[in-house]
Order: sequence, then C-alpha cells, then structure tokens
Amino acid sequence: MSEITAIVPGTFDPITNGHLDIIKRANTIFDKIIVAVAVNTSKTPLFTFEERVELTKKAIESVEGLSGVVVEGVRGLLVDFARKEKARVIVRGLRAVSDFEYEMQMAFMNRRLNKEIEMVYLMPYIKYSFLSSSIIKDVFINGGDISKFVPQPVIEAMYKKLEGVRGDE
Ligand code: ADP
Repeated sequence: MSEITAIVPGTFDPITNGHLDIIKRANTIFDKIIVAVAVNTSKTPLFTFEERVELTKKAIESVEGLSGVVVEGVRGLLVDFARKEKARVIVRGLRAVSDFEYEMQMAFMNRRLNKEIEMVYLMPYIKYSFLSSSIIKDVFINGGDISKFVPQPVIEAMYKKLEGVRGDE
C-alpha cells in the first residue's frame, strides 16, 4: 500500500497544546504529516504569516516523539496545495458541536473543489477541548498563566509580541 500524507491545516495564531494533540494523533495514523499554516484572510492574526510558520516549526521541534512531521506556510487554496503534495487527507480537530457547522461547510466545499481528498476529524484529549488560540491570547493579555496550554516557544513569542500590553505589567 502506498504511503498516506495528511495535511493538518490551521491559522495557528498561535499553536496550542490542543493543536499539538491533534497533530500527535494524526502522526500515529498517517505516514507523513504536513502542518499547513494558512495566511487566513478572514481573521486578523496577532502573529504575521512568517512568524506563525516559524513559531509552529519551533513548537513541533519542541515535541518529543513526533516523526515525519513538517511545517509549511500555504498561500492560496488548501486543496490545490494538497494536490501538489499528493496528500489524500486533510485532518481537522473537533472540539465541540460548535466547531461542527463550519467544518461541515468546509468539508463539502473542499469536496467540490477536489473530490480525491478526504477530510478526517479527530477529537482532542478532553482537557484540551476548551482550548483555542483566541482564549490563549485573552488569558495572556489579561495577565493569566498560559504555560499549561501552549508549548514553551509560544510563551516566549507571546512575551516578545505583547511586551508592555499585559494587564499585570
Ligand atoms: P482555523 O482558522 O483554520 O480554524 P485554527 O488554528 O483556529 O485555524 O484551528 C485549526 C484546527 O485545529 C481546526 O480544525 C480546529 O478545530 C483545531 N483546533 C484548534 N484548537 C483545538 C483544540 N484545542 N483541540 C482540538 N482541535 C483544535
């Protein structure tokens, strides 16, 4: 059987332990994982595209036991990127019912755009099911401790990015 490459796409603004949980799960199922950092025109990210790619790379390197995981920045349509990389699977995380509607829309659109790709949904460990990049940013800006929710490189990057903005400083 041929090797299966899966793409784990996202904005990763910034990458959290919830994202990493999904990447780890995908890594146990598929031969190669491409973590695809999207430009994202519908959100205004805190970190630039280049910063998010770099930070995601550092975060992946900080996790022990991952193999065959690469990080790439992706401009343009994800399904076109998938075709170029010969990836058959796109993996998304499902935290709660609230994620479902958007994911379903995207799944059907992706299928219209490229019918050779299958979407696969994985659920995180329950302790990460409430985590999102936006909640991390809120907690950090208001002086809260995010160390249990994000990898070490993200903490450093948040301090650098938001120097002087934090509520407790
Ligand atoms: P996007 O803008 O593409 O939704 P995100 O970075 O917010 O990008 O999320 C990327 C993917 O990771 C999505 O499938 C999202 O549901 C999933 N995800 C985000 N946070 C978590 C989490 N805590 N647990 C599981 N999946 C998550």
